[in-house]
Amino acid sequence: MLNVEGLSVCYGPICAVRKIDLQVRPGEIVALIGANGAGKSTLINAVLGLQRAKSGTITFLGQDITRWKTEKVVAAGISVVPEGRGMLADMTVLENLQLGAYHHKGDYGPMLEKVFSYFPILNDRKTQKAGTLSGGEQQMLAISRALMGEPRLVLLDEPSLALSPAYVDKIFRFLVEMKRQGLTILLSEQNARKALQYADRGYVLDLGVTVMEGPARQLADDPEVRRAYLGGE
Ligand code: ATP
Repeated sequence: MLNVEGLSVCYGPICAVRKIDLQVRPGEIVALIGANGAGKSTLINAVLGLQRAKSGTITFLGQDITRWKTEKVVAAGISVVPEGRGMLADMTVLENLQLGAYHHKGDYGPMLEKVFSYFPILNDRKTQKAGTLSGGEQQMLAISRALMGEPRLVLLDEPSLALSPAYVDKIFRFLVEMKRQGLTILLSEQNARKALQYADRGYVLDLGVTVMEGPARQLADDPEVRRAYLGGE
């Protein structure tokens, strides 16, 4: 579905992503893990057309999207949950969700029902301003909003950031449920343990290069990954 080949992205003389190859197949959850500054956000932003590739190609559903503007990328079926959520705080929960349905090709009612049935709190709070929600509720809203347009691929930048463990599991279980219903997911996580628990495959990034990749379970069992990213257990 998504094919990244030899991608380099640089800020002036410093390249945050260097010759990265990455594939996301239909129906997979793929995790990018790595420390602060590994290049995860830069990679996600490059797929979205928010950062220009210096070299390499990004292909989505067979189309070369490397130089596409963000709006065209989103219209083609990729949506994003940015780091820090990007909520419109002064708009209501429902208005945020309706905004997310902007690129929906038909009736977004069934998707709204689905979101409300999984996160009833969003239904209860639908007339409340998004800025008044708790951090965990805002993350539920951010993810729900990204799914309202029924994208083919969703990119999530640090979905578990600043969430309590109960919320982290709830969010990941929702992603697994959406995967069962046909969604494909690429996410970046510093919480490698959770990411590898729920993902199908993973890529370990360090200083802009891929240092390891493979099935999530295999990475979670790898002594080097355990030492460097899973707290040495
Ligand atoms: P984090 O989890 O902290 O966001 P990350 O793995 O997502 O980390 P990036 O945010 O992609 O990493 O950053 C990779 C490198 O690029 C870092 O060294 C960072 O300082 C640098 N960088 C990121 N954005 C910019 C920018 N706009 N200008 C200059 N350097 C940047």
